[in-house]
Amino acid sequence: MDLQAIIDGIVSELEPRRGEGKVADYIPELAKVDPNQLGIAITTVNGKTYTSGDAETGFSIQSISKVFMLTLALGKIGEGIWRRVGREPSGSAFNSIVQLEHEHGIPRNPFINAGAIVVTDIVLAGHKPREAIGEFVHFMRFLADDNSIHIDEKVARSEQETGFRNYALGNFMRGFRNIKHPVDHVLGVYFHQCSLSMSCAQLSRAGIYLANRGTNPLTGFSVVSPRRSRRINALMLTCGHYDGSGDFAFHVGLPGKSGVGGGILAIAPGKASIAVWSPGLNEIGNSLLGAEALEMLATRTGWSVFGP
Ligand code: GLN
Repeated sequence: MDLQAIIDGIVSELEPRRGEGKVADYIPELAKVDPNQLGIAITTVNGKTYTSGDAETGFSIQSISKVFMLTLALGKIGEGIWRRVGREPSGSAFNSIVQLEHEHGIPRNPFINAGAIVVTDIVLAGHKPREAIGEFVHFMRFLADDNSIHIDEKVARSEQETGFRNYALGNFMRGFRNIKHPVDHVLGVYFHQCSLSMSCAQLSRAGIYLANRGTNPLTGFSVVSPRRSRRINALMLTCGHYDGSGDFAFHVGLPGKSGVGGGILAIAPGKASIAVWSPGLNEIGNSLLGAEALEMLATRTGWSVFGP
């Protein structure tokens, strides 16, 4: 299979549609991003990376960071995490607060904002916020084997200034004692993890452990056990696109995690890690052309976990 020809074909077919969708503007700094960008990168379990389009341009990974923070939190407290966050799709928007009251401050899953804020609270334990942010950045550099990866401080500040709904979620859960640290500390870390800037090429390398039974084939390091890798993929499949997760499974059929920066990380277990980026979003807040590019890729490679 000629992966390079496949992704070049996808990028050129989507060429006339560049700019479709709506760039996230509730974070003012993200509203400034040029919408006409489209990139794809694939890293295979053999350690090869293929790129096409704007695959080397850095973008804000936003909620894709939740996958990596979950990996860190599982490493710290293991399965105990599930006493504080559920594993069911929410069927609600990524920043929804409605289910939290009935469920006593326990978010439905680690990928909606409420759940991710609890995960960040777990990673923060025993650290100052600055140290937790440093741990996350080092982890991402280690996974992608690239020390140039950094946080975009402008985006972090922009989120800090406008993240009112996230403060509401944090305070609400702190009221239920499911947030253990001061809310501004937890959100300080959360906004910085979301503001990490990475290219598709870097992101596809960082995610490859999830396609390769928990081990990074580029460095040989074991990141998580095969069981943990499988379980993170299951959560990405069921919850990674919020109330668009069913639709993403239907059209693409791969575990995936989206971010409002327009990126999506998708995992083809046993085969490859794929990162796509196009800033225009659909109504749910997932990359419009990104999802379409992944659907084309899944069709052309036969990589859907549900069959060719
Ligand atoms: N930082 C964003 C927020 O908290 C992340 C949301 C997302 O990417 N879906 O609103």
